[in-house]
Amino acid sequence: MKKNALSRRQFLGTVGAAGAATTVAVSAAEPRPTGWSGSERVDKVATICEMCFWRCGVLASVKDGTVVKLEGNPDHPLTRGRLCARGNAGVGLLYDPDRLKYPLLRVGARGEGKFKRIGWDEALDLFATKLKAIKDKYGAESVAFFPHGLSPKFFATVMSAFGTPNSAEPSFAQCRGPREVGYGLTFGQAVGSPEPLDLESSKLIVLIGSHLGENVFTSQITAFGTAMAAGAKLIAVDPRFSTAASKADWWLPIRPGTDIALLLAWMNVLIGEGLYDKDYIGRWANGFEQLSEHVRAFTPEWASTITDLPAAQIRDTARAMGAAKPAVLVHPGRHATWYGDDTQRARAMAILTALLGSWGRKGGIFLPTPVPKGSFDLPPFPDAPRGRADGAGSRFPLASEELGVTNGLVDATLSGDPYPIKAWVVYGQNVLESIPQPQRTRKALEMLDFVVVVDVMPVEQINYADLVLPEATYLERYDTPTIVTTARVPFIAIRQPVIEPLHESKPGWWIARQMATRLGLDAWFPWKTPDEHLATIVAPMGLNLLELRNRGAVAFKGRPYLEDRTAEEGFIQSSSGKIELYSSDLKDAGADPLPRYTPVEQPPEGFLRLIYGRAPMHSFARTQNNERLHALMSENEVWLHTAVAAQCGVRAGDRVVLANEDGVKSQPVKVRITEGIRRDCAYMVHGFGQGGRWLRRGAGNGASDTGLMSRVKVDPLMGGTGMRVTFVRPVRAAGAP
Ligand code: SF4
Repeated sequence: MKKNALSRRQFLGTVGAAGAATTVAVSAAEPRPTGWSGSERVDKVATICEMCFWRCGVLASVKDGTVVKLEGNPDHPLTRGRLCARGNAGVGLLYDPDRLKYPLLRVGARGEGKFKRIGWDEALDLFATKLKAIKDKYGAESVAFFPHGLSPKFFATVMSAFGTPNSAEPSFAQCRGPREVGYGLTFGQAVGSPEPLDLESSKLIVLIGSHLGENVFTSQITAFGTAMAAGAKLIAVDPRFSTAASKADWWLPIRPGTDIALLLAWMNVLIGEGLYDKDYIGRWANGFEQLSEHVRAFTPEWASTITDLPAAQIRDTARAMGAAKPAVLVHPGRHATWYGDDTQRARAMAILTALLGSWGRKGGIFLPTPVPKGSFDLPPFPDAPRGRADGAGSRFPLASEELGVTNGLVDATLSGDPYPIKAWVVYGQNVLESIPQPQRTRKALEMLDFVVVVDVMPVEQINYADLVLPEATYLERYDTPTIVTTARVPFIAIRQPVIEPLHESKPGWWIARQMATRLGLDAWFPWKTPDEHLATIVAPMGLNLLELRNRGAVAFKGRPYLEDRTAEEGFIQSSSGKIELYSSDLKDAGADPLPRYTPVEQPPEGFLRLIYGRAPMHSFARTQNNERLHALMSENEVWLHTAVAAQCGVRAGDRVVLANEDGVKSQPVKVRITEGIRRDCAYMVHGFGQGGRWLRRGAGNGASDTGLMSRVKVDPLMGGTGMRVTFVRPVRAAGAP
């Protein structure tokens, strides 16, 4: 075994010792037996993937300290042995020659990207000295934290103990936030992730802007395939003929921004024709009379002129839903920040789900099953006398104070309102790609006194950092275990190192602990090792810790359906115990208590609406430098309708520059000509066209949709940035073939 290779038996031995010191029973179970990869004997170590945030179960084959293969872990209760192309390509991240290898200190101007190598002690001392100085001068709240993913919990503890409430991740204001707020207002409970979708039992699936198949999460796509093979019907609402639309029984190429009108018309038919689930609504819902009155005028004919869809198609699809209820899955979507009225669209989708009786029913949406979880007895976090700077709970009354509003922190940094923000700590997110209006984000970064980036790869934002700290990849580190309550069976799954960290990278838990020690915050880190940390969290679960380490995941009994709950328990988490079709909370917030369609701005003459999405071989802007995934897709293309391409005089494969209304231009991007997109739209896969020079393979290829988003429409309720409000004009690139 190589010097840096982790001895598997040694590692598991320490687990056993830690487990014995806690209430977790440790049996004499044997480690997972050595396996085979081709003709080689290998150690197989269970962990979870981080090539995206679905957290599939992985088995890593390790030979002499080298990871030779990744495969799906059959013991993982949700993903059951499956990995997608990105999951299989994880070794490409581990052994990427461009990885951040040691701490870096900026020596040039901010943004210039000039650094010198320093050691960890110097880096961490500098971190603590700078943060203490900023706290003394401006207050702890002047430090903002931008986390993302599964791993930032350790850093979040440091920042909260330091005294700042200013933490915001893009998963809320640039992604799922409106959905979670809209469903929360209706059912008293957010949708959550992984989404609790009973696809396999569904008779009819309704996708509204969700392009499953291009957007791949292994278990969801597998269940989708199973449902389709079993004869489920599919309604795909999408301005583009997506992969899912190509499998659909009904494709509704809706005019962008008019989804609420379609949803209201569907409700009109379901209620008007008595096709809704009367017993369910009668027993479990509040506000049916108001809803019924509200949608009376919103006929399919009314919606047809708005949505550009035939009234007969709207009526037919509503009737199909009524016939298949309650086994109808109205997919709640994931990336939901589109037009600035997104909480209301999510509300409309939640109400439709309720009318169909699908929440907590077979073929609809699972109910979560809680799992007992251990916690640490920590001192309370200090108060932040000046409150939050991002507007969560104030300017944006329904924004999550746990997940925050990233763009609210950018606003505060630029304006100094409500108070100056002087430092950013960025962990695991790429603020120039995840937050729209990167022009503003760059300006904010330039204004700061101190910027720290903790990352695995040298994405463009490191150019703006004073200090860059290289984190170990997910295959080299322990993370907080993932406890999933939103699957058919709830489960715990663990991430554990399959080899020791390469180069001078360090696991996040170690970096965070070191930060805490240097800031005098040790009281918030009562555990010393990952083993102690894990043992405390799993203590109330009654698990065999060694078995958990060996298998990587352990499931519990699920109670996913309404029938699994007693009448006293109920299944709706709102304060009334009922589904709130009519939302008094919204009324109190000065908003429409029932969703209403309000027209969105349409593209001016000569411009197209820019829509964007995912490709199965890439995750956001995270994977473009991965050798294997780059080989599968090295750049994105812009989809243009045949008639639009003819008007612009471009042919398939030509390169065009996209220019937005503010004159912002993309890099040249290849044209794909198709009948499968509306004439008023252009489409691109997100994550390409990144700047920076450190990603030798992944930067600079194709066009960046984020770069073109110089305008957004902010949801006044929760602060999310509507990002489908960018209009672009394709212009043939100079010197293009
Ligand atoms: S869907 Fe793919 S990339 Fe995402 S966690 Fe699963 S295997 Fe990894």
